[in-house]
Amino acid sequence: MDKLAIYLRLSLEDAAIGDGLDKDESNSISSQRAMLHAYIRSNDELRDKEISEFCDDGYSGTSMERPGMLRLLKEIRDNKIGCVLVKDMSRFSRDYIELGTYMNQIFPFMGVRFIAVNDHYDSRDHAGSTPPIDTAFQTLLYDLYSKDISVKVKTSVENKCANGEYVFGQVPFGYAKDKEIKNGIAVNEKEAEIVRCIFALALDGNGSTQIARILNEKGIPTKTQMRHPERAGKGGRMQAWDNVSVRAVLNNRFYLGEMAYGKSKRKFVGSKGGIAVPAKDWKVIPDHHEPLVSPEDYEKVCLFRKGADTARKGEKNPLVGKLFCGGCGYSMTYRPIRGKNKYRRFECRKHAVLQIRSCCTCFSADLLEEAVLTMLNRELMVRGDAAKENQSLVSFRKSCITRLEKKIAECRGRKKKLQAEADALYESYAFGSVQAVSYRQKADGIKERISLLMAEEEKHGKELEQLQEEYRRTEEDMKQVIRYSHLEVLTQEVVDIFIKKIYVYKDKRIEIVWNFRENGKETE
Ligand SMILES: [Zn+2]
Repeated sequence: MDKLAIYLRLSLEDAAIGDGLDKDESNSISSQRAMLHAYIRSNDELRDKEISEFCDDGYSGTSMERPGMLRLLKEIRDNKIGCVLVKDMSRFSRDYIELGTYMNQIFPFMGVRFIAVNDHYDSRDHAGSTPPIDTAFQTLLYDLYSKDISVKVKTSVENKCANGEYVFGQVPFGYAKDKEIKNGIAVNEKEAEIVRCIFALALDGNGSTQIARILNEKGIPTKTQMRHPERAGKGGRMQAWDNVSVRAVLNNRFYLGEMAYGKSKRKFVGSKGGIAVPAKDWKVIPDHHEPLVSPEDYEKVCLFRKGADTARKGEKNPLVGKLFCGGCGYSMTYRPIRGKNKYRRFECRKHAVLQIRSCCTCFSADLLEEAVLTMLNRELMVRGDAAKENQSLVSFRKSCITRLEKKIAECRGRKKKLQAEADALYESYAFGSVQAVSYRQKADGIKERISLLMAEEEKHGKELEQLQEEYRRTEEDMKQVIRYSHLEVLTQEVVDIFIKKIYVYKDKRIEIVWNFRENGKETE
């Protein structure tokens, strides 16, 4: 648990973007190693710890799929590491969100101290609070994004959008470039009619697949068929409506008259493509152009589809149905890798409609599964200890059960005796050896004692039932803990048994509501 891990990494990007020094020299594995060892030697607390070295030579920090890193994470998961030491944060990860999750959640959760020597960061200095990552990250971010270029491009785009111009290439279905105003856009009536029809069908409660079927039955042309009739029929791909093309229409807030931009940003200078920007950070200009659907209708359609979406099968994820957005409280939708989705993730479905600022719009499924697994293992460990402590409680409950069972048997015995007494009394009365008045008196007395005994028996019976139920639960819980300790993967079974709900927050906090019971009542 208390081992000290030093993590070293060198990649080609270190030669391209560095800190201005002779990179090969300052970043080489041997100089990273030497500097970390010097740091350890100078630190009283760390000096005597056992050191494990993890090294990835020639691996980029943008992915966690590095052999050395995977070994390190495994040891952290196995609770073998007490402290992780790196030269700077970018050695650990160049993915801001990934790094944040490790620093904010996984490390604190596992009780791992994290030190980035050159960033002057030591998680111990920030115990109990969110580390000031933003400051520590500035250097890294400057490396990754070209500040100058993106700012320049942005301002010009911003100006044009604000003027109602459309500068993003192909105009969305339902619109056309304006013939008179440069960069202006106008409604294309023929296409707009189809868009309105799609929204109307959705408002009637049709799912995207149903809508596609209806459109195809009616012979409604697709975007390609309308705009590029010469291409239609080629490749066979865009000849008909399908659920994807219908959903693309229903998901597009452009039809509300909104213009959104800044959906992706460049990763670094000269890189092709970009990083997807979460929807909450898109720049949105309302009333940019003539809408084709009213906000009320749009919201209604989203509400209908929310149910359908969660029910939609596809790639199954064990966390589906358990995951809720901490911002709005609505469930999150799982998005597997498909089309533009470069990584598996969960998204708040409600955010598009409600635009609640604190919504957790997006959470990487890989990270979430990893974090949940870690939290679950930790919980099981705690539970395992609790179960052991429960052993004494179990034996106590067992003795209570025996005592109650005895008491109930006693009650029954006494009741039987009283019943016999009552029978004998009646016999004496029937034979005339007891007077009617005295019989009535005695019989009433016995009857009352019997009813008292019955009440007592019932009370004990209820107590017994409860104890037996608690006893059974504790035993069940212990069996589960034993069965599931050392989980390696998150399976549907495990999630269903242990997890009631998971809330994820915008700041990537994760809160798990366990299915566990404590002292007979459910923990909430
Ligand atoms: Zn939300």
